[in-house]
Amino acid sequence: MGYFGEFDKSIIENMISAFIYCKIITDEKGTPIDYKYIKVNKYYESYTGLSGKNVIGKRFKEVVPKSEDEKFNWVEFYGNVALTGKSAYTEQFSKTYDKWLQVKAYCPREGFFVAIYTDITDFKQKEQDLIEKNHKFSQLYEKIVDSEEELRQQVEEVNKMYTIVTESENKLKRSQELGQIGNWEIDLNTGLSWGSEVCDRLNGFNEKQQKLKHKDFLRYVHKEDRENLDKAFNILVKGNKKMDVEYRLIRADNNKVIYINSIAELELDSKGKPTRILGISRDITNVKEKELTIIHMAYHDFLTDLPNRSFFIDKLKNALSLSGSKNSKVAVIFLDLDNFKKINDTLGHSIGDKLLIKVAERISSCMRKDDILARLGGDEFSVLIENVKNKDEIIPLIEKINTVFEDPFNINNNLINLTVSMGISVYPDDGQTVGALLKNADMAMYKAKYLGKDTFMLFNIKMKEELTRKVKIESMIPIALKNNEFILYYQPQYETKTGKLRGFEALIRWNSPELGFLNPLEFISIAEESGLIVQIGEWVLKTAAIMGKKISEIYDTQVMMSVNISPIQLKQKNFVNLVIEAISNSGINPKLLELEVTEGVLIDSYDNSIEILNKLKEIGISIALDDFGTGYSSLSYLKKLPINVLKIDKCFIDEIESRDNENTFVETIVSLAHKLNIETLAEGVENEEQLKYLEKAQCYTIQGYYFSKPVPESMIEGIIKRNNDLLKA
Ligand code: C2E
Ligand code: CA
Ligand code: CA
Repeated sequence: MGYFGEFDKSIIENMISAFIYCKIITDEKGTPIDYKYIKVNKYYESYTGLSGKNVIGKRFKEVVPKSEDEKFNWVEFYGNVALTGKSAYTEQFSKTYDKWLQVKAYCPREGFFVAIYTDITDFKQKEQDLIEKNHKFSQLYEKIVDSEEELRQQVEEVNKMYTIVTESENKLKRSQELGQIGNWEIDLNTGLSWGSEVCDRLNGFNEKQQKLKHKDFLRYVHKEDRENLDKAFNILVKGNKKMDVEYRLIRADNNKVIYINSIAELELDSKGKPTRILGISRDITNVKEKELTIIHMAYHDFLTDLPNRSFFIDKLKNALSLSGSKNSKVAVIFLDLDNFKKINDTLGHSIGDKLLIKVAERISSCMRKDDILARLGGDEFSVLIENVKNKDEIIPLIEKINTVFEDPFNINNNLINLTVSMGISVYPDDGQTVGALLKNADMAMYKAKYLGKDTFMLFNIKMKEELTRKVKIESMIPIALKNNEFILYYQPQYETKTGKLRGFEALIRWNSPELGFLNPLEFISIAEESGLIVQIGEWVLKTAAIMGKKISEIYDTQVMMSVNISPIQLKQKNFVNLVIEAISNSGINPKLLELEVTEGVLIDSYDNSIEILNKLKEIGISIALDDFGTGYSSLSYLKKLPINVLKIDKCFIDEIESRDNENTFVETIVSLAHKLNIETLAEGVENEEQLKYLEKAQCYTIQGYYFSKPVPESMIEGIIKRNNDLLKA
């Protein structure tokens, strides 16, 4: 299997997706009937629990003996890929592994296929959860109203489910012991009714009632239930169907509302004509209250008592159907607390829970009369706003929410500063269905997080396109590595005092047959999020080191080769070894290799990063601090970080012309750096004015379009020749 080179092997081995490489087996007619495993990676082993040794060389139907259990026809799916050469993508539930899989399959050569699975069970479950919860509760509700006996069982069941305090259960029992059944009758000829003593007690009549006109009795029935009760009587009398109704009664003695269940039958004379109604009534207030509690619980969040996801979705559905007739919009705000997980992990769940309750209170305080605030789960909340005429109307509310997060939360004397990211989608502009609106608000929220949190975003269609492209880019990176689609450009750096070439910065480009020519700004952050930056970075380092060696050997020119290193790479345990390997493999002089790091490396692991940088420095490598002044920059870092070079970010250079050369910041940095024996390099220099200013500020190393854009390898020769000519002259 010479198909996989050493490089690919390591990628495949360390990938956090399962990888299989297989050969399709066909019958005489060429129809795929099975496939044979040629190669699987580590993740596959841990994922399936099967050891590679026991799988390689075997057929799918041997490895998965219950393959017929799989709903999806994997053999046909892969067969199609291997035989037509067309890549394919699917999401399936695998019964064998009890997981949802996202599968991408490619055909490296005819009759073979490579498949990469990722476990998307969590994602699918979330989706499923929503649907199921809704379903479960509506089922529950139906059952509840079925009959009282069943209700009691339900109560017990739900009781267990929610561990309700047993107190109310005792109440229920007591009421059953005390509770008596009253019987009553109505004479259909006279319209007079009679009730037993128990009936009188239920009604709160203190004295024995004489016969009561039925319509007078109705006065004690709750207004909203009168119509319903009347209907039931009508059906009983006209249709001779047993009556079984629930209604609220206002007690005559204290005006308290109680719930009554009445069951009645018709008495007919010998000719079949109805003469009397015979009924029984009992107090079901306790049961009813319990039922209402259950319904409340089914639709409210246990922790904060806010409406829950099911409730929110019901209301949203309802709002959408109403909004058409009102000719107004409906807005959904998705709120997600920033860094909540960290708080939970460091301070503990009980503080996390208390914090959520406080958060719920503060957000609630922003709500107007008809707004609905719900907790969707975890640290996610949502707001439903109806009758929106114009999107801008929502902004004041959003701003108000932001304000209530300004003060820290005090939980058990921990002062916690919290911010929130929000995404907004509006019906009908941003989606026609509940699902689309939620998804798009969520997407906008993610965008807000991506832009640095503590902010909000209104959904727009571009976000969706961006996300699709992002997913696409991520999925194509492994292929790009395999197919050598990445290339390095090199941007020269000059010393202005002498005009000499200082070195080159290696900058990656991606020439993708499918996506076109991609800028690193578009794919580096995606590669960082997915961890693929590690493999990319390894390639950049190796390639740039080889190029550096080439320059010194072929052109006999000793200049620096600068390589950008992502914070994620620096966190890899074997990073130092990797650099050593790149040096020894290429033969580059370590003094001519420079690694550019950003202040980002310090955020999570300050001491560790400094240790690694020191090790690299010991090898002789130069360390440059990139993008200085853009992030968490603090001049105090300069003293602590073992760096040789400070790259002043383009944004400061850009300001030069607009500020009438009053840019004292650059001067301050340069003079401080020089005191600390750190070289300064200005990047993004585009015109002479900037150059002049920088020289005046005593920054003598420059990189920028003014001298040259990043160029492909083929143009390096020209740059070096010019430099050599200049030196000779
Ligand atoms: P950076 O490290 O700050 O690189 C400088 C960027 O500024 C480069 O953009 C360069 O083309 C651009 N630039 C240089 N001079 C000028 C100028 O005068 N005017 C303007 N407008 N731009 C100038 P590029 O190549 O698109 O790279 C963007 C960023 O992507 C880099 O910013 C770096 O953070 C990242 N990147 C590039 N290659 C790699 C890589 O191999 N590994 C990692 N981890 N990141 C890389
Ligand atoms: Ca750089
Ligand atoms: Ca930079």
